[in-house]
Amino acid sequence: MNFDYSATKKWLLDKGACDRCLGRQFHGLFKGDNGLIGAAVRASDSIEGARKKLSKPEKLKVKLSGECPFCNGLFLKVDTAADKAIELIMNFDFNSFLVGVHIQNELMAIEEQMWSEIGASQCEPLKKDLKRLIGQRIEKKTGKGVDFKNPDITVLVDFTHEPIKINLELNSLFIYGEYSKLKAGIPQTKWFCRWCRGKGCEKCNFTGKMYDESVEELIAGPLLEATGSENEKFHGAGREDINARMLGKRPFVIEMIRPIKRSINLKKLEKEINKRAKGKVKVYGLRASDKEEMRLLKTIKYDKTYELIVKCANDIDDEKLAKIEKEFTGKEIAQKTPTRVLQRRADLVRKREVKSVKCEKLGAKKFKVVVRAESGLYVKELTHGDGGRTVPSFSDIVGPCEVTELNVLKVHIRRGD
Ligand SMILES: [Zn+2]
Ligand SMILES: [Zn+2]
Repeated sequence: MNFDYSATKKWLLDKGACDRCLGRQFHGLFKGDNGLIGAAVRASDSIEGARKKLSKPEKLKVKLSGECPFCNGLFLKVDTAADKAIELIMNFDFNSFLVGVHIQNELMAIEEQMWSEIGASQCEPLKKDLKRLIGQRIEKKTGKGVDFKNPDITVLVDFTHEPIKINLELNSLFIYGEYSKLKAGIPQTKWFCRWCRGKGCEKCNFTGKMYDESVEELIAGPLLEATGSENEKFHGAGREDINARMLGKRPFVIEMIRPIKRSINLKKLEKEINKRAKGKVKVYGLRASDKEEMRLLKTIKYDKTYELIVKCANDIDDEKLAKIEKEFTGKEIAQKTPTRVLQRRADLVRKREVKSVKCEKLGAKKFKVVVRAESGLYVKELTHGDGGRTVPSFSDIVGPCEVTELNVLKVHIRRGD
């Protein structure tokens, strides 16, 4: 190991390093608190000597300095910064946190310069030590723990401001659940008025919305109240047509943005949501989730099973229905973007597989069909053919027809695909 104890120590002391900045450069050799390491190194001429001194930390006296060129006295401000942060975060309900610090660029440059002269093999960077010290103090005073991966709150300490500025990043609260939509005509998500884009105008009766309610709002209402969140975002595993009911259960993750309260009773809230949304939406199995699951939900592949009621222009018979079942099971369908959504979506051809088809005759010109297909297949168009834009379609066999009712019976999630 290429580390010169005496030369490193001399270089730092000549420049006026405080005990913490001295100790930081020896961190890898001794581990532990950099202030104590610095005090021990200052008082010893060898690694062995310093180690001996560190075994009796109660006898060491750590000296900090506002004149230290390596920290510019920042270590003297750590307690103030931590106390300020504690005062702020106590306004929120949280279980874990993480500290970030912002320091003058000048100090970063001085640190770089130092490493290029004395090496950086054993050192601990200034920012890392600051973060640890502030974190330890917050942990001690609040009893909450540091979480590097999924903290509830990120505390950003800005040392470039005088007085020190604290910014809090309240991380979202994620809740997983599944929903059914029992009534047609409700969109999945909030849909802003297309004329005023949410501001409110005569066309939308000053609601800012195209529809009075949505699955999102029916679910979010009680959750917003309980958490005091600023806003929310709804992430469904796919979506259903406004006019389709969702009779199966569709997974979703709802993201509560900047929540004040995090410890909430999800069982009780589930009941409250179901009470208020009675006859429209029902939720099941609400539980804590995280960002990762939310991302997964948006990328996983799944099949859907639909139930459609179809009205034909001509008479149908069992033979024709049997032909639909036989010809469409396992069939790949080529679909151009449906005419009805062409205004909103790019015109392209997509290929999706029909997994299974089951038909049942309901009248001379009416039948029910249950279709399982890859997500993304437009089943209404699979039925009537959309003027030749979907090939093949059921209308190739039964002639002109229309879908009078559409329900999603099941969303088949295949995790790990
Ligand atoms: Zn210092
Ligand atoms: Zn409007």
